Amino acid sequence: MANKTVHLRTRSLVTGGAGFIGSHLCRRLLELDHDVLCVDNFYTGTKDNIAELLPNPHFELLRHDITFPLYVEVDEIYNLACPASPIHYQLDPVQTTKTSVHGAINMLGLAKRTKARILQASTSEVYGDPALHPQPEAYWGNVNPIGPRSCYDEGKRCAEALFFDYHRQHGVEIKVARIFNTYGPRMHPNDGRVVSNFIVQALKDRPLTIYGDGKQTRSFCYVDDLVNALIRLMATDAGVIGPMNLGNPSEFSMLELARKVIDHTGSGAEIVFEPLPTDDPRQRRPDIAFARRTLDWQPRTCLDDGLVSTIAYFDQLIRGGAHA
Ligand code: NAD
Ligand code: UDP
Repeated sequence: MANKTVHLRTRSLVTGGAGFIGSHLCRRLLELDHDVLCVDNFYTGTKDNIAELLPNPHFELLRHDITFPLYVEVDEIYNLACPASPIHYQLDPVQTTKTSVHGAINMLGLAKRTKARILQASTSEVYGDPALHPQPEAYWGNVNPIGPRSCYDEGKRCAEALFFDYHRQHGVEIKVARIFNTYGPRMHPNDGRVVSNFIVQALKDRPLTIYGDGKQTRSFCYVDDLVNALIRLMATDAGVIGPMNLGNPSEFSMLELARKVIDHTGSGAEIVFEPLPTDDPRQRRPDIAFARRTLDWQPRTCLDDGLVSTIAYFDQLIRGGAHA
């Protein structure tokens, strides 16, 4: 039987810890003197993302698929496991839903048994193609339940429902974060998300592919800001359960983003227009009043600064030959 009192360090489980956000979170938690257990099935995450953490005696890596039960002793759980890019989550949509739903049930069961706090990485996709702008947490969303994005959107919505039911029914201490588009170093170069696509294209002097007319908007949060918010949310009083929007409210069209990437890379690449994917939301911007108030937090990295660090990362990756 676990005895929390003999553990001086907080034992944090990060599912999806070898992914983009998860690897930054693991690193930050280690800096804060936590014992970190990273659980990942390497579906989209890589060992490279966490290679430098492996020698740390307070870091442990477990290859495991969270759609199966997990028996470990922990104090807090960050549930991030789930492919996040449309290309990856649509590759095996049934597995995507299973990861969100069965994964949530398994991790909530673990939280219930160990009395751990559990934070869910939910998403702005729960708002679908929003009819309300910007999106406050009270908005219920406009989601297509049967489209190609539904495995992700509805899987995450069901996970939120499960979190709230485990809280009401079993008293599990939950925190639900609705994360808006996040970018930064260690994004997967082939995951098809707009920031990584544009940067890789620009660095290779290939045309930047804008889907649709490029007037659709997103709000991009630098990963360090997001990780900071996740850790602050986990540390809030038990009464703070969310859902809480986390993101950067500065909003840009894809055309503006493409121009910024071209400027910052000094690339001679041109812009081409391609068809807009099905159910692509037209606009997205978080209302972060709740997070500002509750976490005493706001994003600090503007898009230009974040792009410079992200471009430097991809430049090194491409020069190093890790990405053909
Ligand atoms: P990512 O794809 O880089 O990371 C996801 C990680 O989960 C990967 O390491 C992957 O291998 C792992 N994983 C997937 N299925 C798993 C399973 N069944 N069992 C164990 N591990 C599994 O994505 P990310 O951008 O780091 O996103 C992390 C979380 O944040 C996801 O839950 C995502 O839905 C959420 N989120 C991200 C964004 C964003 O803009 N990056 C926005 C909203 C929400
Ligand atoms: N997008 C684009 N070109 C690309 C990749 C994406 O214009 O090469 C667009 C995409 O259609 C969407 C926006 O950029 O309107 C953000 O896409 P992403 O996949 O990064 O995130 P999400 O749609 O999940 O917010």
